[in-house]
Amino acid sequence: MHLGVRAYAHGVAICTHLDQIRVVPPDSVGGCEDCLRTGDRWVHLRVCLTCGQVGCCDSSPNRHATKHSHESGHPIVRSAEPGEEWCWCYEDQVTFELSE
Ligand SMILES: [Zn+2]
Ligand SMILES: [Zn+2]
Ligand SMILES: [Zn+2]
Repeated sequence: MHLGVRAYAHGVAICTHLDQIRVVPPDSVGGCEDCLRTGDRWVHLRVCLTCGQVGCCDSSPNRHATKHSHESGHPIVRSAEPGEEWCWCYEDQVTFELSE
């Protein structure tokens, strides 16, 4: 999928995994898929940009987004909170935004 994605800071590419972005994040998400299954709570939500899985953030008790990244090898999540567009790459440990 070609998104016309750029993730540069001061002219330097800061994430080297942009080719692993395969999904366009949804406008709204229902909740952390794993927490919904077990009846747990979450604080904030993240969307995996490789497979679209919704997981909870590191402030949540279960940290499903981080767990998913480690288990699947999918490096990039995007915030699923309303109005937040930042992405995080677990491999490069950087925050960036996607733009045309
Ligand atoms: Zn990266
Ligand atoms: Zn969760
Ligand atoms: Zn994934």
